[in-house]
Amino acid sequence: MTPAVPFDPIQRAAETEAVVMQDKLRKYYRFRASRHYGGIVTADAVGCPFLCAYCWNYGRNESPARFGKFCSAADVVERLTSIAHKKKIRLFRVSGAEPVLGTASFDHLLQVLTAGRFIIETNGLILGARPDLAERLGGLNVAVRISIKGWDGPSFERISGAHREFFRYPLIALKTLTGAGIDAWPAVMGDLFGTEGTRRLAALLEEMGICTHIETEYLERYPFVVSNLRQRGWETSDKIH
Ligand code: SF4
Repeated sequence: MTPAVPFDPIQRAAETEAVVMQDKLRKYYRFRASRHYGGIVTADAVGCPFLCAYCWNYGRNESPARFGKFCSAADVVERLTSIAHKKKIRLFRVSGAEPVLGTASFDHLLQVLTAGRFIIETNGLILGARPDLAERLGGLNVAVRISIKGWDGPSFERISGAHREFFRYPLIALKTLTGAGIDAWPAVMGDLFGTEGTRRLAALLEEMGICTHIETEYLERYPFVVSNLRQRGWETSDKIH
């Protein structure tokens, strides 16, 4: 069901976790090798506290109850390592959803991380709200890529659908992770941030004492993505700034 925008993403995270976690099992819908990062074995999950206008998995994250099958962490590790062995790939990730929705999904993720070297792709919301969880990633064989959804409250709200008051949570996650010595960096959607949005984010990170490079990714312009962006008031013909 489409939530009214803007919504409370902390509440949505809890509601989503209740749908996509069943005891220690989490919902996944696909396991595959992908070309990202030079080759990475990927478990595609469902369930996210945000509903980004450009999300390539928008439909599944809008209605996670309708998609995926519950898998134990041991099943996920087995599926991932089997593909890794066949494809000779040594890097892993969870994609298509937010891996950390609360304590239950975090504990499940910790077990999945035993597959090998992991890149945790996250929106940073819960890791920002729960520094105790972020700090538990210290010493593990992980790097953390935090997808930042805006350079200020209003842009965050228009991109993520979440209320602007939560804008700083992913930045706090980045601060906590880097402070704990964990390899973590921000990524932005270049089509929406443009030069000015990226500059403003970089200034904010510097103000917060976070020294890191900003990764830039670009839109997959699926028709539903263009339509969702228009509904949130984004122009999509060219860079906004
Ligand atoms: S944070 Fe990622 S998975 Fe979640 S809605 Fe946004 S793009 Fe999709």
